[in-house]
Amino acid sequence: MANIRSSYTGGVNFFGGNDPLELIRQYGSPLYVYNEEMLRRRSGEMRDLVKLPSFKACYSAKANANPHLLRIVRSEGLLVDSMSLGELLMTRAAGFESDEILFVCNNVSAEEFKQAQASSRVVSVDSLSQLELFGKNVPAGSRVMVRVNPGIGAGHHKKVVTAGKETKFGVNVEDLPRAVELCEKYKLQLFGINQHIGSLFMEPDKFLAAAARLLEIVEPFKELEIIDFGGGYGIPYHKYENEARLDLADLGQRFAAMLEEFTAKTGYRGRFVIEPGRYVPAESGVLLGSVTAVKNNGPVRFVCTDVGFNILPRPMLYDSFHDVEIYRQGNPAPDSRTMPQTLVGNICESGDILARDRELPEVQEGDVLGFLDAGAYCFAMSSNYNQRVRPAEILIDRAGKVKLIRRREVPEDLIAMVTPLD
Ligand SMILES: *Cc1c(COP(=O)(O)O)cnc(C)c1O
Repeated sequence: MANIRSSYTGGVNFFGGNDPLELIRQYGSPLYVYNEEMLRRRSGEMRDLVKLPSFKACYSAKANANPHLLRIVRSEGLLVDSMSLGELLMTRAAGFESDEILFVCNNVSAEEFKQAQASSRVVSVDSLSQLELFGKNVPAGSRVMVRVNPGIGAGHHKKVVTAGKETKFGVNVEDLPRAVELCEKYKLQLFGINQHIGSLFMEPDKFLAAAARLLEIVEPFKELEIIDFGGGYGIPYHKYENEARLDLADLGQRFAAMLEEFTAKTGYRGRFVIEPGRYVPAESGVLLGSVTAVKNNGPVRFVCTDVGFNILPRPMLYDSFHDVEIYRQGNPAPDSRTMPQTLVGNICESGDILARDRELPEVQEGDVLGFLDAGAYCFAMSSNYNQRVRPAEILIDRAGKVKLIRRREVPEDLIAMVTPLD
């Protein structure tokens, strides 16, 4: 199938033989499309990153919590971590048992602690005061993990760096002895120590440095069942520039060597856990949208679409780059001539920009665009801003069959929570 710019999805058979324009006609625009084969492949890569029986990958549900996708991730052997009661609901709906769920939360209430403790294997607390609150509200003997702030962070944008002195996360290393005292006071089992230093590493080094640091930090603590290194594995968003992938073979080997050395040195008998979020579903999602207008304002050619930042928030939030494909009726031949174009959505804010001065073949009204790598932190962060409805989500299975996994919202959904006007 030829089309204006579609060689990436064509190469991986993303749409499984389905025509993106036909999918839009059937399920409405915009539309989130997921590919089961890709989701399984990435899940497997995380499961097998380190080939030690003590190693477990735990998918971080906040990246994408659709239970249909979670069920696939579970069937590939991943555990899951949830951050809220809503995510717990989704993970339980997908079939995760309580002993397959870690609750890694941040600044929650007593009520949330009580409910989470009842349906997850272990709850992680993020500060000494949260540890006290947890202790006061759960039965003696409950398990707890303490999230440590190792003092180093990393990430693709300052909004996603989640460790280091200036972030809100974790208990400082110096305060860990106090955390142990609090566990004794409330008769909690200190089950694990976890960290998560940030998102989107494309090189193993920073992750491995932080992992080595965590192993130093946990060494004095005996009887831990979980040492959890967090997530952050990046994916190549610049598909059309052949951006290199994170070298998992190198990362996996060096990480395994580090874990084996630690085990040999300390006699540790618990589990080593990672919490990849983005890596698992990001590349299994493409967001389709429609071009509703094209215009020139001064020197800028604007391509106007129905994909507002309420539907795809990452470019506005983090200046993120999503590569873009172009599909046109009649399957015309690919077009390699490009011009700078600025892609915008339908939200009434000038910051509603999906891509600025992007070199693309000339886009026309009526074209369908595909925003690549939209499986993580895209639908999950969408909103009803401007009182626009959220799109449907569909899944393409390994035989190319399409399944609706979330219906498109309707205007009645928007008003459903409003109490009657009297
Ligand atoms: C967000 C988050 C993750 C996943 O991060 P990615 O960058 O998507 O891999 C893992 N653990 C915790 C605690 C998180 O908050």
